[in-house]
Amino acid sequence: MRCLGIESTAHTFGCSVIESSADELRGRIVSDSRDTYKAPEGSGIHPRDASRHHCEISDKVFRNSLAQAKISIKDIDIISYSAGPGLGPCLRVGAVIARTLAAFHEKPLVPVNHAVGHIELGAMLTGARDPLVLLVSGGHTMILAFSENRWRIFGETLDITIGQLLDQFGRHMGFSSPCGDRIEQLASRSSGEYRFLPYVVKGNDVSFSGMLTAAIRATSDQGNELAYAEVSYSLQETAFAMITEAVERALSFTSKQEFLIVGGVAANKRLATMLKAACKRHASKFYQCPPEFAGDNGAQIAWVGMLEFMTSRKQIKVENASVYQSCRIDEVDVAWSR
Ligand code: AMP
Ligand code: MG
Repeated sequence: MRCLGIESTAHTFGCSVIESSADELRGRIVSDSRDTYKAPEGSGIHPRDASRHHCEISDKVFRNSLAQAKISIKDIDIISYSAGPGLGPCLRVGAVIARTLAAFHEKPLVPVNHAVGHIELGAMLTGARDPLVLLVSGGHTMILAFSENRWRIFGETLDITIGQLLDQFGRHMGFSSPCGDRIEQLASRSSGEYRFLPYVVKGNDVSFSGMLTAAIRATSDQGNELAYAEVSYSLQETAFAMITEAVERALSFTSKQEFLIVGGVAANKRLATMLKAACKRHASKFYQCPPEFAGDNGAQIAWVGMLEFMTSRKQIKVENASVYQSCRIDEVDVAWSR
């Protein structure tokens, strides 16, 4: 069986094909094609501009994904698309393409929750079976564990996500979004001088908005490279320590023997180092989504589309291929057993 997955929730438009045998669900990524919208330096994603980008490159990305897999659209058995949460104009591009392909080629159409996509692809690629999950991306900052057919939330951000913290601070320094990797590079070049930033953990939730304001204030001298590096370093140390504290408490509470980090921020080496140490303290096995599949991509969608269709045969009529901008992951039923 082959499933084509189409991702378009935010800055990335991606298409990927995943293969699995019909009797044993074991995914293999046979193609992964994507293109990311880059906003002008210093500004964030404008949904209209990102959706225009997706429209313009969609044909090329789609054809690349089939060419990489060395197949034609006729060889695809299932078409899945990212239905949300995400930016409306961007989501609609993916949904329209998926709907058109499914209608024209008479293929089953499966909508996929983007956050579930991050988690399940991470689990598939690492082999994690029943992990406590940290989802850290542009759209999410959540600690999750699976129970009774749903991913349950054990802690989350009370305001902006860790990705928004990094991207908004990066834009203030003149970078273009997404800028987490630029901040990581800057931090690694800093003297290691710590600048105080607010550390806010409430129960098992975190809050980053005060830290963003403080970091912007601490770098109000535009172009001060030394301050940029020191505040980037301090921001990473503070924000990642907050997340690690919440993860550690969740590990202790759930006694999970596995831990999995997914989402674009999972590519960060400093965050992984802190979490690895926490896992060691709790005798929990540390799994990290491979950095090349940590951010948004079509394989997440293809894999969940495959899981959903193979376990429940659930598909939708093309006229019902809608999108949703917001949705908490604990509202989503998961059909396959974990
Ligand atoms: P996603 O929404 O899953 O595509 O993740 C995108 C987010 O990941 C953006 O906020 C990026 O700034 C962030 N990101 C990407 N690479 C890194 C990195 N090396 N360190 C920290 N954040 C990163
Ligand atoms: Mg994402």
